[in-house]
Amino acid sequence: MDEKPVLTVDVVTPDGSVYQNQTTMVVCKTTLGEIGIMPNHVPTLAALAIDEVRVKVGEDAYDEIAVSGGFMEFSHNTLSIVASAAERRENIDANRAQRAKERAERRIAEAKEGHNIDELHRAEVSLKRAINRIKIAGK
Ligand code: ATP
Repeated sequence: MDEKPVLTVDVVTPDGSVYQNQTTMVVCKTTLGEIGIMPNHVPTLAALAIDEVRVKVGEDAYDEIAVSGGFMEFSHNTLSIVASAAERRENIDANRAQRAKERAERRIAEAKEGHNIDELHRAEVSLKRAINRIKIAGK
């Protein structure tokens, strides 16, 4: 029987490897939209959005990883995802993310009041990270 071709996916952060597996498909959200990577896909380099990476692990089953932006690079059937932070769904602390969300919302309100555009942008990114974690943890 023919073996299905597979690719290796590796998610790394400054703290080390967060996830490594072999799979037949990975779905990533790039800053330009969703991309599905299957074995023998053309070499690809893309910036990742603050969103989820889904790794197919069964007929209708996926491992889900929250990524806080970064890059994906695919070549020679290896998908390397380099993210500033990444957590597997089961490792997300939803209460912590909820607290981070509330903190970011307060910072946004204060930055708007103080017309502090740089702080507003930073707080908006923090809010995105928190919302992304809450969404993925709640699946
Ligand atoms: P917080 O304010 O709660 O620290 P943050 O968005 O500032 O959130 P990051 O700077 O993105 O946190 O991440 C710092 C480290 O903490 C990373 O290793 C990241 O994976 C981890 N981390 C952040 N939030 C969570 C969470 N809700 N659950 C599990 N790990 C988390």
